[in-house]
Amino acid sequence: MMKEIPSRIDFKEAEKEILKKYGEKIFYIKEKDLKNKNKFCIIMPPPNANGELHLGHALFLSLQDAMIRYFRLKGYTSFWLPGFDHAGFETQVVIERRLAKEGKSRFDYSAEEFYQLINKFVEENKKKIREQMQSMWVSADWSKERYTFDKGVIDFVYYVFEKLYNEGLIYKSLRPINFCVHHQTGFSDLEVEYREERGKLYFLKYYLKDSQEFLTIATTRPETIFADVALAINPKDKRYKSYLGKKALIPLINKEIPIIADNLVDLNFGTGVLKITPAHDFTDWLIAQKHKIQDYPSIISVDGRLNENAYFLKGLKVEEAKEVILEKLKTEGYLVKEEEYLHKVPICYKCENKIEIIPTEQWFLKMKPLAELAIRAIQKGEIKFIPEYGKKRIINWLKEIQDWNITRQIIWGIPLPVYTCENGHLNVSKNKLKTCRFCYSKNLQRENHVFDTWFSSSLWPVVTLLLSGKKIKKKKEKLLFSSTYFEAFYPTSVMETGHDILYFWVARMIMFGLYLTGKVPFKIVYLHGIIRDEKGEKMSKSKGNVINPDEVIKDYGVDSLRISLLINNPPGEDLRYSWEKVTGARNFVNKVWNIARFIALNCPKKILKNPKKPKPKTQADKMILSEERKMLEKYFKHMDNFEIYKALNEVYFYTWRRLADIYLEKSKEQLKDKKLKKNTQTILAYLLNNLLKILNPFIPITTEYINLKMIGSKRPISLQKF
Ligand SMILES: [Zn+2]
Ligand SMILES: [Zn+2]
Repeated sequence: MMKEIPSRIDFKEAEKEILKKYGEKIFYIKEKDLKNKNKFCIIMPPPNANGELHLGHALFLSLQDAMIRYFRLKGYTSFWLPGFDHAGFETQVVIERRLAKEGKSRFDYSAEEFYQLINKFVEENKKKIREQMQSMWVSADWSKERYTFDKGVIDFVYYVFEKLYNEGLIYKSLRPINFCVHHQTGFSDLEVEYREERGKLYFLKYYLKDSQEFLTIATTRPETIFADVALAINPKDKRYKSYLGKKALIPLINKEIPIIADNLVDLNFGTGVLKITPAHDFTDWLIAQKHKIQDYPSIISVDGRLNENAYFLKGLKVEEAKEVILEKLKTEGYLVKEEEYLHKVPICYKCENKIEIIPTEQWFLKMKPLAELAIRAIQKGEIKFIPEYGKKRIINWLKEIQDWNITRQIIWGIPLPVYTCENGHLNVSKNKLKTCRFCYSKNLQRENHVFDTWFSSSLWPVVTLLLSGKKIKKKKEKLLFSSTYFEAFYPTSVMETGHDILYFWVARMIMFGLYLTGKVPFKIVYLHGIIRDEKGEKMSKSKGNVINPDEVIKDYGVDSLRISLLINNPPGEDLRYSWEKVTGARNFVNKVWNIARFIALNCPKKILKNPKKPKPKTQADKMILSEERKMLEKYFKHMDNFEIYKALNEVYFYTWRRLADIYLEKSKEQLKDKKLKKNTQTILAYLLNNLLKILNPFIPITTEYINLKMIGSKRPISLQKF
């Protein structure tokens, strides 16, 4: 107990004391808790273990902890499973940038050395982020922490890969993909960004075979003409009907190519005649597939230079090749004209270099069958989206889905469990393989790819629960085994994450969850927005407008940080964040402290500790008890609907404008009145105890500290019930 209660909360002291006294372990779930018929579960989006905790993390921690704590107070077994993501390419880029600062690159290291370098860095980050999260006293069950590189997770990734492969959903294919020449890796379509660029449209003559007649085509990429396989027109285009079936000649090399018709050709682009270059353009590749053109040359290599198929352009970089060939086309009379042209070029989202479309061997996952499962479940309403727009967006995306390139050519990832023999047989095996299963060859090579980091992330709700608790042997089920936690918590209650990874992550978790278990992985998707600065600009180091959660915690405390992120922050909308918000939050935390202080100073401990249901005697009593009842009704309604910000607004208004501004003032007189004193104390004690409980999900440390120091209660609020 406190001898003297200071007029402001010493948040540093409060944090130190509460963390020391209650720690993390009070939130661990025991096997017997699984029997509770009311269960609530959130799988925490695993932070990338490649940096420090940022405001985005602090936001999801505050939101999810509010939900978790609320349901715990309602008497649910409330389970929050934390974890970390190795974050493949993202992490490797962080390390490569560090090396670049020292004038080194990853190629100065052997693969093994480079891997160990990243591993050390990631382990340090995991430790740091875990400590930062724990310093916020988030009520996760740290005994169930998972990491995407845990052996159990990798084994499960291999199990799923093998299952998909055996069912014909995974295949290896040589085809054009997005490739970053700088980073030397392929990307999925989702990872590519676009930049608007002022370029030129070049109009080139393609002569018809044995004729002086020619067709003019328009292209932004004259350097790829040696990889052309056809000219194409739209079948509706009357201008060119007579040319169909004839042959054209590629300028400078006079290679014969057919003239074909396809409705993917845009009548209004350029002249309406398109050169078809399947190796280096996705639309062209699609057209070639439709016309069964299987044999198409690739002229750009993964080193960003033109290869032996490019004649005199061989060895040149793409931009150089463009200049050389334009000069040649001009002097030989093939270049009709040039036009200014504004277009979008694909760029690497990390190094901003142009993405080249280059055919390479990759592994693909057929998405259509998986997407159909997800669309059906979402349309049936098996998942509720908060805000609702998530539903429409995700369905639209799923309907347009293309096969997913799941392999990357980087070091930092889960290696593919595939061994290829000298005869080209593919052996999928999670264990090291010495003999080919098909021809018994002993000459086996492991595939030199790793998984896209989102592949393991997409299995997260299923695999983390399967690995928690006791293993249950299952027969004739979709999964090889189950666990007590999986049985108890799957599907989980809420998936709370940023709207920016709705497709990357949420959609894929839904597809995999349904594919593997027949059930959606979560019943509710709650999407939060991005945190911006007060002017609405994205926070970035280069702009110098980043607010670091550690700074906020240091100067204002954990609870002020939480309130500043939760208040007036509706789901799905971006949050404008400023120090002003933090001060406002700090003032509220102090207000709560002062209300408690006033009540503690004016009520005997006995009344404080054992609050009884009060009876109103005065007009003011009636007012506050009725205001409290109304507020509580709304609070519970909003919290049950995951409208955290609405619930907080109700409590905020009641606390400040009703309890502090009006009733506490009135009670000062009532406390002086002998006839009213005891009853007023009963009311105050009752109101305070309720207030601490309903505020506990938002400001756990302050409420516990008041409970411990002013009320003198031995039972933490976090473990009580409403
Ligand atoms: Zn790049
Ligand atoms: Zn073989």
